[in-house]
Formats: sequence, C-alpha cells, structure tokens
Amino acid sequence: MNRARISAIDEIAPNVFELHASMIEPTRIEHEPGQYVSIHIRSSTEQRSYSLASPADQTDGFVLLVRRIGGTGSQFLAGLEVGAEMEFDGPRGNFRLAPGPGDAVFAATGVGVSALFPMMESLLARPGTGRVLFFWGLMNAEDQFWSARLARLAQDPRFTSRLVITAAGDGFVTQPVIDTAAELSAPIYYLCGNGQMVKDVVDWLVARGIDRYRQIRTDWS
Ligand SMILES: Cc1cc2nc3c(=O)[nH]c(=O)nc-3n(C[C@H](O)[C@H](O)[C@H](O)COP(=O)(O)OP(=O)(O)OC[C@H]3O[C@@H](n4cnc5c(N)ncnc54)[C@H](O)[C@@H]3O)c2cc1C
Repeated sequence: MNRARISAIDEIAPNVFELHASMIEPTRIEHEPGQYVSIHIRSSTEQRSYSLASPADQTDGFVLLVRRIGGTGSQFLAGLEVGAEMEFDGPRGNFRLAPGPGDAVFAATGVGVSALFPMMESLLARPGTGRVLFFWGLMNAEDQFWSARLARLAQDPRFTSRLVITAAGDGFVTQPVIDTAAELSAPIYYLCGNGQMVKDVVDWLVARGIDRYRQIRTDWS
C-alpha cells in the first residue's frame, strides 16, 4: 500500500475539484498516462478508482480530478484537508496509449477527461503522429475547466477539439465522434466517462468495421 499527503485542493468547476498529493511512501510514483490509482476509503474496506490527471513526468506526487457526487468515495475525498494522508494502490490499468502513427480520437464526458489530458499531452510530445481529435461533453458551459491546458494542446497543428454542451443525458459526444469517422486514417479511439456514451460509440464503430481490440480503448465503463 502506498501513501501520499494532500498538498493542495483546488475547486475548478461546480462540484469538481483537483486534489494535489505529494508522495510519502514510496517517495516517487511512476505511471503511464491513462492509468489510475485505487484510493482506500478510511474506516472502510472499500476502494474507489481515480485517474491520474497529472503528466507522466511528474513523479514526486500526482493530481486527481474528482467530481463530488455525494457517494462514499467522492465524499471521503471531499472531506480531506491539506496535510491529510491518503492510502492507495497502483498505478494500475491498461487504458494506455497505443503505438503507431495513425490518427487518434479522444472522447469523454465530464471529469472523464482526467485520464485523457495526460494521454493527449504525451501523444503530441511524440514526433510523427497523426491527427489528434478531442471531443468533450459537458452539461453546462460553466462546467468547463482546464482552459489553459486545452489552449496549450491547441498550439499543436495536429490537434483539434470540440466542446459539446448538452443538458440532455450527460453531455453526449456520440454524434460528433461518429461524424468525423470517415475522414480519419488508421484511427485509435480512446473513450472515457459516461457508460452509455462509451457503449453507443463502441457499437457504432464496431458495426462499421473498426477493430474493437486493436483500435478502441475504453475506461471507467
Ligand atoms: C478506472 C476508473 C477511473 C475513474 N476515475 C475517476 C476520476 O478521475 N474522477 C472521478 O470523479 N471519478 C472517477 N471514477 C469514478 C469513481 O471511481 C467513483 O465511482 C465515483 O467517484 C463515485 O464514487 P462514490 O463512492 O462517490 O459514489 P458511490 O457511493 O459509488 O455511488 C453513490 C451513488 O451515486 C451514483 N453515481 C456513481 N457514480 C456516479 C457518477 N459519475 N455520476 C452520477 N452519479 C453517480 C451511484 O449510482 C450511486 O447511486 C473512476 C472510475 C474508474 C473505474
């Protein structure tokens, strides 16, 4: 079991906060973009998973992005204060970047972007990759965060993004993702967040001949 200390808490959107942690034991953390940690809920045997929102080259600590929904895990994390210790297992998970020079599509709803930002940043740091398309579904315009981080990605000519604001469902990005499919070269799809969105996009892509195991990677659902 690993231990880290909360070093900062930033409220960045309604009911969404960043939890910054510094490693205690071990003193460094190595992860691949897209991976998550399993947080131990104090006074319970339960754990909850949270994607690592920080870039892979940050090894002295990490950042989690948490949506406060009032359940056991998010309530526990929302109750932590700066200086508190957190216990966790990981990093874990196979939601990782695939090798290859093709195009990449990243689609998420809400805080599902937590895993995607470090992945997109790492992918665009590689020379010779294809286009990187990012679709982000939100229910309200004020739910958006990480504008500066998004603007840095947008400086790369390979990158385009589309924000989809819809009060229906959970900010579904299904149709915009589908609409761009025909223009892509050997795409890999990275889908994260709302389970229905992930299922709808996967079903549509597979029905059109996209290889479920080589070309589609999903998380959370
Ligand atoms: C690999 C992985 C990575 C994840 N990364 C993140 C992350 O980076 N940030 C993050 O905030 N969460 C993330 N999650 C979700 C997280 O693990 C918890 O499931 C989430 O915080 C809810 O847990 P809870 O204990 O607060 O709610 P629970 O006690 O589990 O649920 C309470 C109630 O809320 C409902 N509920 C559960 N999830 C949601 C939701 N998302 N929206 C609305 N209602 C819900 C449940 O149906 C239940 O009725 C991730 C999940 C996985 C599997």
